[in-house]
Order: sequence, then structure tokens, then C-alpha cells
Amino acid sequence: MLPNALAPTEPLAEMLRQCESLCQAGSFVVSGPDWLVQPSAGLLTLLGLPADSPAQALAALAWVPEPERKLLAHLWRHAQAGTVFDLRHTVLTADGRRLQVLHRGLLRHAATEPQGPSGFAVLHDVTAQREAEERLHALSHANETTGLPNRAWLLQKLDMAVNASGWDQRGFSVLSVEVPRIAELASSMGFGAADALAGALAARLRAFRSRDEFVAQMGSSEFALVIRHPSGLVRADIEARARALIDALQQPVRLGRVDVHPHCRVGVAAYPDDGPAGPRVLEAAQAARADAGTATPIAFHTLDADERNLRALALENELRQALEHGEFRLHYQPQVSLQGGEIYGVEALLRWFRADGSSVAPGDFLPVAERTGLVAAIGDWVIREASQQAVAWRRAGVPATRIAINLSPVQFQVGDVARSLRSALDDSGAQASDLGLELTESALLHDGDRVAATLGALQASGLEISLDDFGTGFSSLSRLRQLPIDVLKIDRSFVQDITTSAEAASVVRSIINLAHGLKVRVLAEGVETEAQLRLLASAGCDAIQGYFFSPPVDADTLATMLRTRRQLPAELAGSRTRSRTLLLVDDEENILSSLRRLFRRDGYKLLTATSGEQALALLATTEVDVIVSDQRMPGMAGVDFLRRAKELWPDTIRMTLSGFTDLQTIIDAVNEGAVFKFLTKPWDDDRLREHVAQAFRQKELADENRRLTQALARASIEQASLNRRMSSLLAQQREQAELVEAGAGGVRDLLELMPAAVLGIDPEGTLAYLNERASELFPQALGSLGQPPAAELATVLNQLRTAQATGLVTLGDQQWRGWLRHIDGAEFNRGDLLVLLPCCKDAA
Ligand code: C2E
Ligand code: CA
Ligand code: CA
Repeated sequence: MLPNALAPTEPLAEMLRQCESLCQAGSFVVSGPDWLVQPSAGLLTLLGLPADSPAQALAALAWVPEPERKLLAHLWRHAQAGTVFDLRHTVLTADGRRLQVLHRGLLRHAATEPQGPSGFAVLHDVTAQREAEERLHALSHANETTGLPNRAWLLQKLDMAVNASGWDQRGFSVLSVEVPRIAELASSMGFGAADALAGALAARLRAFRSRDEFVAQMGSSEFALVIRHPSGLVRADIEARARALIDALQQPVRLGRVDVHPHCRVGVAAYPDDGPAGPRVLEAAQAARADAGTATPIAFHTLDADERNLRALALENELRQALEHGEFRLHYQPQVSLQGGEIYGVEALLRWFRADGSSVAPGDFLPVAERTGLVAAIGDWVIREASQQAVAWRRAGVPATRIAINLSPVQFQVGDVARSLRSALDDSGAQASDLGLELTESALLHDGDRVAATLGALQASGLEISLDDFGTGFSSLSRLRQLPIDVLKIDRSFVQDITTSAEAASVVRSIINLAHGLKVRVLAEGVETEAQLRLLASAGCDAIQGYFFSPPVDADTLATMLRTRRQLPAELAGSRTRSRTLLLVDDEENILSSLRRLFRRDGYKLLTATSGEQALALLATTEVDVIVSDQRMPGMAGVDFLRRAKELWPDTIRMTLSGFTDLQTIIDAVNEGAVFKFLTKPWDDDRLREHVAQAFRQKELADENRRLTQALARASIEQASLNRRMSSLLAQQREQAELVEAGAGGVRDLLELMPAAVLGIDPEGTLAYLNERASELFPQALGSLGQPPAAELATVLNQLRTAQATGLVTLGDQQWRGWLRHIDGAEFNRGDLLVLLPCCKDAA
């Protein structure tokens, strides 16, 4: 029904309908405090909507695309009463088409007037006309060879996007793409080839472009892709898109008989962050391109690049001096076992205390140190300092603990981590088992195989390797399996939400299971609350680190903690002997108190809550075995509470105590495992007590099972870690043996060629080696390899020993000059070496 004030009489309505149908137009009236839009029959036909479609609020018109809806509502709300206004916008038809309409509106009464706002509008379908215009426009703005629109066109489009952003809150990013190959081809092979390449790339660009994007060609070898997106640069998304673009463009192009590889460089700038208008943003993108290279083909425009560079330069100088002036310190944060609750290791965290008393956080100076390569020198200092600290603690009688050192990926690129570690250990007298290494997945991004091999060797030597910040990097699970890793550190960002978000909790649970599956231990970082710790312990996590136990502290404070054997409270760690805990949830106090009376005699620790929310808060701080919850409660219903409880604390045994009315809901919850048992009200005291007792028995069995499974898993992880170490060690030894073998082979070949007889006798006095000449000389000796020398040879040896190792020996009718040398080298070459050279009779 049309609102009364504007309702046309019947014949008028019919006229309007005819008119609208002839003009491919529609209309609506708008009125009332909600600006309710009542479409005419013609408009409904245009939109393909049923004739009885209800009125919709102007601000929520379903048939206007969301971003344009805002503009429309804005215009109507700020229109001047009595003045016609018009705009073009899109409408969405029921069958999914997008039409362009010319919308002419007239506000008859402003919102401030007593009767409230009212007005009407005519919408005229101008889609075909608009498309023709655009084609014409594009033709006049197209590049001759590729047909892509040109720079002038692009700037107009950017202008429009800037205007539109005022009301749709959308920004855009310009990706300026340069393909130097096109210009190179033009000079080396002529314009024909260059045009062909440009044409092929233009086609790829067109195919690549999605609906919210447009492309243009700026010069012979320069293109642009513009992406419209919500304002505020979603950098990772843009970067992903830029990468995809590069992948698409860089496929080889076949020109005649050759494949041309069109490498590209991309500069990115965004509106409004990098410039207040289209031309400025475009320039910024083009300028940013200069920073792109072959290794990193994408560069983002940065604000205040100059100022930033200056600051970085100053910081770089200060960093160099900091190293010389000894302004760095290491602080140590304990890592605590969830098994026994004891400190089993510490993480060394770098601190920079400047001479002026201020301090700088690692997050602020490490990026500069990495960019400048200074991180290698700083990293070496950290390795030395940690090694010396380990020895200092040992000498002072502090209980031993492993110190984990953070390694920057850059250290693997510019430094020689293995060598730094070796020399730090040698110089300080620390052992490999005193140290651990923490590195992130990004350390393996470049030259991952080499880094993994280095790590493998370090691991074999006894260092513990931890994968830091797990979950924030590329996290390829297949890769993880191949890496020499002992510990996986779950990033703080996951731990933060585990007690409030079921998703976070389940992510963490799967990381733990996955790691255990790969026989790797798991440490959770950034544990700040007891609730987080409990949840992690229940999920089988092996260790934690975080403010809850201790922040990073200086070496002396840590030594005191180790000396006093600071621990997690017993009820939080390992096998606990806490009492059986029952949580009762019911909104009715009298029911709670009769339940409390009932269960008191069974000796449980009793907790009560009058709502699901309150119960969840309790669960976060106290470990509960069994929950009995009412179903009907204001706010969160019983099964909904139990569902949440299951997601967060799956090990609890959960039961409802309810009337029969909600049977189906409860059965559903039982079927999905949220509810273990369904008990009815009113209850029979003894049966209820028996059910609860049985639930506790089941819980204890499950706990015991879990404990055993976890112990088994831990044992097998220990075993696997030992195996890993052993097999790395074996591989190293094999390699060494092969080296020795290869070296020995070369020497043996030489010995065969010598014009002398050469024999080796090992320290046990058995014959270990003889060359060809020697076997001719002592034919029977060949058969006695590995045994004491036979008669004739034994005589020669004795003769030479008494002649003090050198002298003339007669064998058959020939005289020989003999040398006997005792060799006392490393393990592989010890024993006696006998050399016999033939000599002429007259010389003798
Ligand atoms: P990271 O390796 O993830 O180190 C843990 C960071 O979390 C440390 O910050 C630590 O102080 C902080 N933290 C520990 N427990 C909690 C907690 O319960 N809650 C919260 N909110 N934070 C906690 P820090 O010391 O500022 O170090 C920041 C990063 O700097 C480290 O992250 C590490 O990547 C890097 N870093 C620190 N020292 C070194 C170093 O010697 N060499 C290298 N290459 N990087 C280092
Ligand atoms: Ca770390
Ligand atoms: Ca970390």
C-alpha cells in the first residue's frame, strides 16, 4: 500500500504503470522516519521482483549494491526540499544483472518538518546508453598496439575513485608494472617483436583483472593495475595479488622460435595513505618501483622514506657503538615443564641499555641490525655471552639449565652460525648441551636445505633446536617433518585467546597433536594466566614460558630462582592429588542448596554457579571433573553452556539435570557429545548420587589413560630425539670415515707405484698393509694379513729393530736398505712402517 499522503487515485496509478513500462522506468515514494521506500509496479518489473514485495528502509535497500546504498541514503537525507536532484547508480535485478539507472529524486518534505520526510523518485534504465558511452570513451583513450586504455583514462578513473571514496569509504592501490624486456626487444629486435610481447602481456593483464580492478598502459613497457578495496591498505592481500600478477605476466612468451621471459618489477602505492589524489598515488607507485629488484620484485611506497632512512642511519651508528661500549645485556626467561613444574631451560633475550639510561626494545633495533647486517656481530656477542653465562653459573654452583639463543634469519645469510658457536664453546669451555637455538620458519626461506643441514649438524653436537613463533609463518607441515627440530614454540598470539575462543583452543590442541605426531615437544609462549596454563596442560602441552611464571629477568635473579628451585605450584603441574571437583549450575538458589546438601556427604569439592557465564568463568580458574547443569536458565541455556564447556574443557564430564520439556534439545546435545548424561528433575537422591559417582570414576579412568598416553608420547619423543641425534651423528661419522677412506685410497695408490716395498704393522703387531713390491718380496706374507708377520719378515723386523731402525738386509740374493719407523699419529695411523729399497751390490 502506498502511504496515504501520496496515494494516487486508481486511474492515475494505471497511467503511471503504462508510462513506466513505455520508458523502461520505475519510481518509488519514500516517507516516514525510517525513510521507507515503496516501489511502483514499474520499478518492481524493472528489478524482476514480485508485485507484493514489501517496502524497505532507504538505508538498507537490498536492490542497490551496498557501497552505493550509502551514497543514495546520504543524498536523500541531505537533499533540499523542493529541488530535483539526480545521480547515476547501479541496481541489482533478481536474476543477477547489474543495471545502470538515472535516478531523479524530489524531496517534498524535509525530515525536520512535523509530518516527517517524504518524496518520490523516478529511475530510468540507462545501461545500454552507458555501455555505448564507455566503449566510445575507451576507444578514444586506447593504446594503439595493445588496445589497453592509456594514462589519461587511468587518471580519470582514479579521479572518480577518489570522489567515490568520500561516500563508500573505499580506497585503491595502484600497481605500477614495468617490463624492461619490451624496451630491450625494441632496440635489439625491432618494434614488431616488442609490440608482439606488449600485446601478449596486455592480453594476460585483461584476463587477470577482476571486477573490482582496472588496467591501463602508461608507456611502451609500463602498465598499471588498480585494485579498489576497503580503505586502509590490506597490505598482505595487495602483496598476494601483486605476486599473482607477476606470476601471470612472467610466464614465457613464444615469439617466433624463441621463448622470451618477461621479468617484471612492481611498485605499489595506495590511496589515501600514499597520496591525496590519483596523480600523486600513481607517481608514488612509479617511484616505489625503483626499490624493486630481482630478488624482491615488489616494493611498496613508504611515507617519510627519507626521514626513516635518516633515523635508521643514526640507529645504525649507535648500534655499532653499543657493541663497542658494552651496552647490551642478556635477560633470561624461564621455560617450565608442565610435567614436573620445574625450570628446565631459559630463553636469552637481548636488552640494550643506552649510556643515557634509556633502553631500546629488541623489536625496535633488530630490524635495523638485520637490514645492515650488524645482526651477525650482535648475534655473535649473544652466543659468546650466553656460553660464558652457562660456565659462570656452573662455577658458582647454580643448578644447570639450558640457555636458548634467538637466531635471526639474517645470521644464516651473512654469518657463519656454526663457526661462531664452535668458537664460543671452545673459548668459554661451555658444552653444546648448555645451549639451545630458537629460530623462526623464515630462517629456512632462503637456502633452506643448507640451513637445515647446518642445524642438523648442530643438533647432532648436542644443541637443542626450537622452532619459534610457530603458526605465524609459512608452516608447511611436510617441511616441518624434514627439519631437525626438538621443540615447537606455539606463538603467543594463539595462546592469548585460548580460554575465550574455542577456535584458538582447538588450533592449539591440533598443533600439540601434530607436533607430538612428529615426535617434537611443544612449548607455549606468552602464558599470562593460570587459566591458559590449565588449558594447555589439559591439552598435553609439554612446557610453557610467560609472565605467569616469570618475565625475563637479569642473570642474578635467574640464578636465585634456579638455586631456590622455583617451581609451578604442585596443583598446576604433573600428576596432582587434588580433590574430586563437582560444579553445579542452576539459576534457582534453592535447587543449588539442596544439591549441595546432597553431595556434601560424598566428600567432593563443590562449586556452584547460577548461570552459564558464571560457570565458564569458574572453569577458567579451577579444574573441574564433573559438571551438572540445569537446562532452563535465563541467558545461556544449559546445553549451550555445556557445548562451550566441551569446546574449552573437553575432558570434563558433563550432565544435565532438567525437566522433560526440553528433551529434543538435550538429545541433540547428547548426540554431539556435549552432554554425557541426561538426568531428570525431580530426582531420586540415591540414583543421582550414583550417577555422579560413576561420572567421577569415568573421569579418573580417562585421566589415567591420558596420563599414560602422554607419558608414552613423551617417552617416544625422547626416543625420537635421541634417534635423530644418533642418526645425524652416524651420518657425520660415516662422512668422516669416507673422507679418511678416500684420503687413504689416494695414498695407497701412490704407495703401489713406489719402487720400494712398503709394509705396515699395527700397534698390536699384526701385518696391516703391504704394497705390490712387498708382496713379491714376501710371497707368504700376503696370506698373513691381519696376523703377526711370518718367519722371514719377522726376522727382518727384528734385525732392523736391533739395528736401531735402519740398516742393510739381505733377502734371497739381493741386498736391501731398510727403514723401520714407529708412527704415533691419530687413531687411524699408528704402528710401524717398514720401507725396503733395493740397493746395488757394490754400494753395499
Ligand atoms: P621472541 O623470541 O618471540 O621472544 C619472546 C618475547 O615475548 C620477548 O619479547 C618476551 O619478553 C616476550 N614475552 C615473554 N613472555 C611474555 C608474556 O607472557 N606476555 C607477553 N605479552 N610477552 C611475553 P622481547 O624480549 O621484547 O623480544 C622480542 C623479540 O626480539 C623476540 O621474540 C625475538 O624474536 C627477538 N630477540 C630477542 N632477543 C634476541 C636475540 O638475542 N637475537 C635475536 N636475533 N633476536 C632476539
Ligand atoms: Ca624466541
Ligand atoms: Ca617467540
